[in-house]
Amino acid sequence: MKNSKLLLILFVMSSCAKVPIGHMTLSSQTPTDKSPESIGYYSLGCLDGGVSLPPSGPGFQVMRLSRGRFWGHPSLIKFLKETSKQVLKKTNEQILIGDLGHARGAPSLTGHNSHQTGLDVDIWFKTIPAKKNLDLKEREVISAPSFLTSREEVNEKLWTKTQWEVLKTYASHENVERIFINPAIKRLLCQKRRSSFTTKEMSKIRPWYRHDDHFHVRLKCPKDSKECISQKVPAETDGCDESLDWWFTEEGKEKIEPWDHYKYFKEKRAALPKRCKELLGDYL
Ligand SMILES: [Zn+2]
Repeated sequence: MKNSKLLLILFVMSSCAKVPIGHMTLSSQTPTDKSPESIGYYSLGCLDGGVSLPPSGPGFQVMRLSRGRFWGHPSLIKFLKETSKQVLKKTNEQILIGDLGHARGAPSLTGHNSHQTGLDVDIWFKTIPAKKNLDLKEREVISAPSFLTSREEVNEKLWTKTQWEVLKTYASHENVERIFINPAIKRLLCQKRRSSFTTKEMSKIRPWYRHDDHFHVRLKCPKDSKECISQKVPAETDGCDESLDWWFTEEGKEKIEPWDHYKYFKEKRAALPKRCKELLGDYL
């Protein structure tokens, strides 16, 4: 199918509220055959020489494979393989991996803002026992449970030692630039586990809207990626201050506004660095 035709179908689908657009493969991308390079910024960029993460490996299983969002810069793939083994060793549990990015990165029609340069990944808070193997259908339909009981409270029946170990494993990795988690989870971290994390690790763990069923890990720009734009290194404070309290005020509530995925997607595509536009060509 021609990309223009596919684009039209996707447009119709995205305008139709009844279609769960996030459950479909929306990208026809294949990786480029160039050397790996992350280009641009996390929320406005693309990926040369993308590498795929296998559907399973020691300590991890990838969810929602139909989305085709299991590509990343080799540094992200290596990082995920390494950290999954560490989690498995510490907890005897496997992690469930959600979206990485498309084969050539860039904006997606599923509404992610970042995940464009092959350096972002979503990881579920829910883990599964070491011996459990989810089949492909289960990976499409099992949902990621929220770890909150309300906007302010973490469900401590679900949030156990395992989740602290998982968070610690990622926050302590030197390639990690930021981790996004729900503000209530950050507050629980400040209240109960402050002593088990260094200030540097705490500074990387940032409160953000939602992120109550998964956390988002963002890696630093790799050395081979000269056109990759880093995010400012966060100030080395634990973040357990008034800035955290703000999230629980009326002002800190997320404002949910009508969202036109397709319009946003088109605007983002138009604003990409020139090199990304060339690299993407007609690919979605
Ligand atoms: Zn994410």
